[in-house]
Amino acid sequence: MILICPECKNSVDLTAYTDLDVGHVMECEMCGISLEVNSIDDDKVKVEIVDEGK
Ligand SMILES: [Zn+2]
Repeated sequence: MILICPECKNSVDLTAYTDLDVGHVMECEMCGISLEVNSIDDDKVKVEIVDEGK
C-alpha cells in the first residue's frame, strides 16, 4: 500500500501496519504529524491530518 503524507509529501512506510484500516491514526516519520486513515482504495491509502488542537 502507498501513502503520501499530505503535509510533507513524503511516502510513509506502511509495512509495519499490517492491520491498517479506516480510522487508524499513524504518525508520519518524516514530519511527525498525525494522520488518520480516511479510505483505502486498492493500494492507495487516503488520510487526513489530525488536528491535535494546538
Ligand atoms: Zn509527513
